Amino acid sequence: MIKETDVLIIGAGAVGCAIARELSVYGRRITVLEKEADAGFGASGRNSGVVHAGFNNPSGSLKAALCREGNRGFEKLASDLGIGFLRTGKLVVGNTERDLESLTRLKIQGERNEIDELEILDEEEIRRREPALRGKYALWSGRTGIFDPFEYTLALAEDAASGGVRFLFGHEVKSLRREQDGIRVLAETSAGDPAEFLSGIVINAAGVGSARIFRMTGKDTYRVLPCRGEYHLLEKGSFGSIGRPVYPVPDPEKGVLGIHLTPTLHGNLMIGPSAEFTEDPEDMANTAPVMEELLAGARYLLGEDCSFRLIRSFSGIRPRIVEKDGTPVTDFRMEEDPDLPGMIHLLGIESPGITASVPIAKRVAGMLREDGSQPQDRLLTERDRSRFPRVKEAAGGRMICRCETVTEGEILQAVENARKLGALPTMKGIKNRCRASMGSCQGGFCTLDISRLLKDKAGIPTDRLTYDGPGSELFTGVLKGGEDQ
Ligand SMILES: Cc1cc2nc3c(=O)[nH]c(=O)nc-3n(C[C@H](O)[C@H](O)[C@H](O)COP(=O)(O)OP(=O)(O)OC[C@H]3O[C@@H](n4cnc5c(N)ncnc54)[C@H](O)[C@@H]3O)c2cc1C
Repeated sequence: MIKETDVLIIGAGAVGCAIARELSVYGRRITVLEKEADAGFGASGRNSGVVHAGFNNPSGSLKAALCREGNRGFEKLASDLGIGFLRTGKLVVGNTERDLESLTRLKIQGERNEIDELEILDEEEIRRREPALRGKYALWSGRTGIFDPFEYTLALAEDAASGGVRFLFGHEVKSLRREQDGIRVLAETSAGDPAEFLSGIVINAAGVGSARIFRMTGKDTYRVLPCRGEYHLLEKGSFGSIGRPVYPVPDPEKGVLGIHLTPTLHGNLMIGPSAEFTEDPEDMANTAPVMEELLAGARYLLGEDCSFRLIRSFSGIRPRIVEKDGTPVTDFRMEEDPDLPGMIHLLGIESPGITASVPIAKRVAGMLREDGSQPQDRLLTERDRSRFPRVKEAAGGRMICRCETVTEGEILQAVENARKLGALPTMKGIKNRCRASMGSCQGGFCTLDISRLLKDKAGIPTDRLTYDGPGSELFTGVLKGGEDQ
């Protein structure tokens, strides 16, 4: 049976969720199709978590304008969504006269982009602000901040769901075509069943999968070149105190910001990301040579005698887009298909895409309104958010994850929130919601306790518990003693 909807969004990353939330004020039927088991499993949960200021992007670009807008509105957005955000400032550090020239050029570009609080610092001032840092010159950006990208993406999704948006997880879009009364979208569920939808408007917010969706319309204008960024995550307090993101001078040839150090809101430090092109847009491996490269990048900023206690490595994929003839697309592309009215593609949404996610959503909302105007923020600010309580508010019961001090109550609230969103409760989704198993033991001590709790109090049989969806079952067989877990 074909399901009808007014707006169909492909992808539950920060961009798809922000669009769903923005459009939810119109009271139309909005459906989000996501191939993964939960929101934020793509690039939106695999990045540096930096709210960029906007000085790195060429003046006049959409990236510069939407990043600045996202940055300026972030305090208000974080307060509306009830999530954490810290305006820490950031340092871009160099050592040579050439670096100083690059930093000065970045500052000029930033000023052209109307970014405030940019300043060139000397060695003494660098040390005063970040005593552990090496470097002779730095560009200081007072507008940069940090946030938790899992918390952010899930809060956008929950807010959209509170506004009536329907999320269907485990639904991978396979094809689409124009019909007389709308666009017909064919998806396949994670159980292998077909699911058909008919919608007047379809928004392609599929991140690294967006070029594939674009090709489903019969055109080959764009190709995606997946560019993987690998990270190390350090144990809390394992390296002195770096209080703000610290970057090297970017190499314009590579088109990325370089291996940097980013503190998280929770007290960890991240080193990364690298930049390597991969064949497979889903290949999120961590590789030995890059692991070494990341440590070398950190030592460049902190000195050779540094040592780090690593607890985990992970990676994310940038959806780098090129035109058919190989010409790089360096800006965000947001366009309606002239041959398929109602079909909107968002392509090349790489950094600063998460900073810019709400401004991108507002632009999309404007594209859909005849007068081009954007919806009123007031309606979103005043939304009733009681349906998805913050997990911390549910603290209570036994302590299950000792590294991150997460209780039974928080884990069960995480499961309930996932279910209300329509997501499959998975270990990764629980971790992203309440941080259970995110600490120094990485679940070594608490995974069994979590699985027992889920079996006894959330009705999730142990042999059905997955890390991030079907195919990633955590337990098989029978344990010693004959117990089925
Ligand atoms: C290494 C790295 C570091 C970054 N650092 C920052 C930073 O510090 N600050 C910043 O602002 N930005 C940063 N970014 C960029 C930012 O993460 C992205 O721009 C942003 O997350 C893009 O969001 P999205 O929703 O477009 O994509 P995604 O989060 O990837 O979401 C797309 C979703 O579409 C789904 N999907 C794909 N194909 C299909 C299909 N056929 N059917 C159904 N669903 C489908 C995917 O499963 C995915 O969940 C970084 C990116 C990377 C990779």
